[in-house]
Order: sequence, then C-alpha cells, then structure tokens
Amino acid sequence: MLNIAIFGPPGAGKGTQSRLIIEKYNLAYISTGDLLRGELAAGSELGKQVKAVMDAGNLVSDELIVKILEKKINSFENVNGILFDGFPRNLVQAYILTGLLTKLNTELSCMISLEVPEKELMKRMLKRAEKEGRSDDNPDAIRNRFKQYHEKTQPVEMFYKEMGKCITVNGLGDIDEIYKRIINAIDQCL
Ligand code: AMP
Repeated sequence: MLNIAIFGPPGAGKGTQSRLIIEKYNLAYISTGDLLRGELAAGSELGKQVKAVMDAGNLVSDELIVKILEKKINSFENVNGILFDGFPRNLVQAYILTGLLTKLNTELSCMISLEVPEKELMKRMLKRAEKEGRSDDNPDAIRNRFKQYHEKTQPVEMFYKEMGKCITVNGLGDIDEIYKRIINAIDQCL
C-alpha cells in the first residue's frame, strides 16, 4: 500500500493538493477535518460535542479522532493506499497512526510537508473565509489554529524526519507547480 500523510500549517493547501494526489495514485482519502465537518453538518451527537472546540480553533480530543478514523478505515475495501490529511496532528496521534496501519499490515510510506510563510497563509485563509465561510476561518480562530499548530502539530514533522520519512515541499506558487513538486517527492519514496 502507498500510505501518505500530507502535512502543513492551516492554509498550506493540503486539501487542494490532496484531491490531485488521490486521483493520480488512486488512493482512499481521510481528512479528519472534513469528517468532523460532516458530523457537524449532520447534527450528530459527535458533531455537537466538537462544535465549540472546532469553532475556537482548538484540537478535538484524540479519543474522538480515533473513533471517526476507525469508522472511516473500516469502510474501505481493497484500497491501493490511504492519503491522510490533517492527521496526525500531535505526537500521540502519530503513534495511533502507526498502530492503525500495523493492524492493516502496512505502514506510512512518507509524509509530505508543505512549507508556506505565515504571512502568505494568513492571506490565503482570509480569502478562503470570504469564499467558503468556514466558522473557524475568523481572525481569532485562525490565530489559535496557528498556535495549536506550532505547539502540538509541528513536533510531528520532526518525529517523521528522524525516521527519514518526511519530505519538505515548497508550498508557494501555483497549484500545478506545487503538485509537480509533490509528485517528485512521492516518487522518491516509492
Ligand atoms: P482542518 O480542516 O484539518 O483544518 O481541521 C479543522 C479543525 O478540525 C481543526 O482546527 C480541529 O479543531 C479539528 N481537527 C481536524 N483534524 C484533527 C485532528 N487530527 N486532531 C484534532 N483535531 C482535528
């Protein structure tokens, strides 16, 4: 299986690039953010539990994340591999991912880390706020999401770098240009 995690700060373009990557490599896709937003939209019990946490830009508990991940993974049949977007988001989740993939007799092939300067990220996110109206794309929540990213998520990158599994990709430029860099990086770990 080809299992990839796409990593980077909020607004780095993970969602946009994920759509192109899953098509090229025929991968199943798990975006924990999308799954959570799905629960919110459906008005489920889990959705009600996470709404305030997400609106404030905080991280949802690892326990709930495992629940939605397992449900999603169990729905897959005969997949070529999985692309994880927005997960793992802290070191505990990195260990959880290892466990989940071991159960499937596989492992993470590589992590693609998109690098984008913070000034550009803020610009992109405010633009997205106008277009998509996500309730966590307001300045206070955005600031907190960056804070959470620096404190809890960034150490995950070092974890995979030390394992020799993380490739950094320049996330500045047009969508196609960044996509080509990502494909080159993935081909390196195939
Ligand atoms: P995203 O769409 O990946 O930017 O995620 C939006 C929000 O969903 C985050 O700010 C968190 O509140 C929550 N979230 C998404 N993925 C995770 C995760 N792996 N762990 C904890 N919270 C998450």
